[in-house]
Amino acid sequence: MTDLILVLNAGSSSIKFALHPAAGSGRKPALTGEIGGIGTAPQFKARNAGGESLDTEVLAGADATADHAALVARLLDWLLAGEWGGRISAAGHRVVHGGRQFDGPVLIDAKVMQALEQLVPLAPLHQPHSLAAIRAIAERLPELPQVACFDTAFHRTQPRLAQLFALPRHLSDEGIIRYGFHGLSYHYIAGVLPDHLGKRADGRIIVAHLGNGASMCAMKERRSIATSMGFTALDGLMMGRRSGSIDPGVLIHLQENKGLDVAAVGRLLYSESGLYGVSGISNDMRDLEASADPHAREAIDLFCYRAALELSSLAAALEGLDAIVFTAGIGEHSEMVRRLVCARLSWLGVALDQTANEAHANRISTTDSAVDVLVIPTDEEAVIAEAARHLI
Ligand code: AMP
Repeated sequence: MTDLILVLNAGSSSIKFALHPAAGSGRKPALTGEIGGIGTAPQFKARNAGGESLDTEVLAGADATADHAALVARLLDWLLAGEWGGRISAAGHRVVHGGRQFDGPVLIDAKVMQALEQLVPLAPLHQPHSLAAIRAIAERLPELPQVACFDTAFHRTQPRLAQLFALPRHLSDEGIIRYGFHGLSYHYIAGVLPDHLGKRADGRIIVAHLGNGASMCAMKERRSIATSMGFTALDGLMMGRRSGSIDPGVLIHLQENKGLDVAAVGRLLYSESGLYGVSGISNDMRDLEASADPHAREAIDLFCYRAALELSSLAAALEGLDAIVFTAGIGEHSEMVRRLVCARLSWLGVALDQTANEAHANRISTTDSAVDVLVIPTDEEAVIAEAARHLI
């Protein structure tokens, strides 16, 4: 009987989960799944290591009122009753914000929980869900070791200038700085880069994590030196429903002259903008690529234009560029986005091999391209499982 690590990634409307073997990194999870539709109509899906779907009534009767804590409790009951070839010996959580304090994964105790609760105002839409999941597990299994892995931690290596806003000093001193996110994804890519690039992995690399949320990270020696997201996960690139960087004067204008209150501005920036807002059709790149509507094409063009601009700015932070890595849903699967972004980067020495790009090959640059362009699938859950293995 092997030990298993329960990996949980609690988002605003979904909880992804997996059971990873506690020994032998790189081995397949015994189980993966997701509870989606939280707050509306919760649905459950799970697959075993063989890819077979596991039917269960675990959420029977759960409705829009079932919160993260209640759903994690039900999930745990189901997991504890099942036969997965081992017993759960630890839990690892994705936690969005680790503030300035946490620069790596940490074993959770009462003091850590207190520190994480103090960070809720910095990520009010995400942090409470991770904390609810941690508490729900602690209530049912108080002796189970739990580990927190932070989306911000990978960026704590950045130089001070990369972290500062040009705001009055007292605001920076109290923590209004650029934190950066998607750190678990960047950590994973940094770990596998040598397999793809050999010694060049320690050079000047930009990783483009293009998913529903999107950001980029500039790495030197596989450490973060700059990133496109800032104080919140709103900054930087255009995303599925988020605006990305915007002239802050627009926000003042909307409140002064259009009668929007803070909540309405928040909704506009977090869920009504981005690909969805510009196209008026969908936040899903697949829908936009399939659409003949010119607004869909304009949304894709703006997404790619903004991505090329952001990438160029990060190349300036790196003072050059050796490789680009595309990852996450759009980065891994959209040949069109990769083609349109790279077409704007020939001045940096990027030459795309379009046949390789269409085949979604691992290396999609030509052999004489000055910059290697790679497609590497990310795996945030594997990073959480690995951290739990190390700490326990
Ligand atoms: P993620 O947040 O990393 O799970 O990425 C989700 C997003 O990836 C979806 O909303 C789509 O926009 C995009 N995506 C997934 N598959 C494809 C595909 N085959 N082609 C284009 N975009 C895709």
